[in-house]
Amino acid sequence: MLVGVDERFVRHDTGRGHPERAERVGAVLAGLVASGVDLDVDAIEPRSATRAELERVHAAAYLDRLTSICAAGGGRLDADTVASSESWEAARFGAGTGLAAIDALRAGRSDVAFCAVRPPGHHAVPAGSMGFCLVNNIAVSAAALVAADERVLIVDWDAHHGNGTQDIFWNEPEVLYVSLHQSPLYPGTGGADEAGGPNAIDTTVNVPLPPGATGDVYAAALDEIVAPVVDRFGPDWVLVSAGYDAHRADPITDLGLAAGDFVDLTTRVAAFAPGAGRLVLFLEGGYDLDALRDGVIATASTLLGEPRRPEPTTAGGPGRASVERIAAAWAERSA
Ligand SMILES: [Zn+2]
Repeated sequence: MLVGVDERFVRHDTGRGHPERAERVGAVLAGLVASGVDLDVDAIEPRSATRAELERVHAAAYLDRLTSICAAGGGRLDADTVASSESWEAARFGAGTGLAAIDALRAGRSDVAFCAVRPPGHHAVPAGSMGFCLVNNIAVSAAALVAADERVLIVDWDAHHGNGTQDIFWNEPEVLYVSLHQSPLYPGTGGADEAGGPNAIDTTVNVPLPPGATGDVYAAALDEIVAPVVDRFGPDWVLVSAGYDAHRADPITDLGLAAGDFVDLTTRVAAFAPGAGRLVLFLEGGYDLDALRDGVIATASTLLGEPRRPEPTTAGGPGRASVERIAAAWAERSA
């Protein structure tokens, strides 16, 4: 397993008391190393995304604004999102890490890559930052793949709806965007009826789940709702918005997962890839450092073929009725 990480991701400084903090990178690396990753061997050299690569998903005026705010020492970008002087460098290298991972997988270096990037990306919209996110890292990679005539599945298991990623690919038939998320919760989007624009009907799949939803509910959602849609779509690549804030210990969400559940999520999502070397994970949220480390252990150990559950799986939480209703609606759409 390849790992994309860079010192720049730690230098993006969100200030005192912000949940999206530099220590998160260390927690992820601790989880990767505990799973048997050797950072000396498995690290990929990150690179900066080019301006043209960023402009596939973001407005030039926004990128200019971000550059100048950081050059002036940083500041508040929106209600939740802060930039420091180093944030522009972190953001463009964060986006470039996914591109470097894709190149390394194409070269046959490994079967899978995990990008331990900060700042996160899935809330960043075409014209701006949002929800701790500056540049939509996973979208930059997906757009690069689409430009190379590849079909891309994005699975977003972060607790929050990835509204930015959904917006960017809303009308793009070559990208299937799938999100499992808590509802109600920030940012308030991601209703089950949001399914894609006029040129991309049924290439957005939203699975809003109630607070307290457990691992069995997530597994059922992937099996009963997502798997049939993915089968019909036939992706060439699978990209994952791997947030770990669906863990029950997370301080800003209310879902009911434990670290062991990420074994089952990872197993199912990895099986959507059409073959080896077509799977890239991107760190999104996850704000309890122990839960973040343990969730990464579950994910990485599974990808390395020796699944480990730092905590048992969870079951019995609410959400089965939502899954059944959404599965029935999708079965009807595809009939
Ligand atoms: Zn999140």
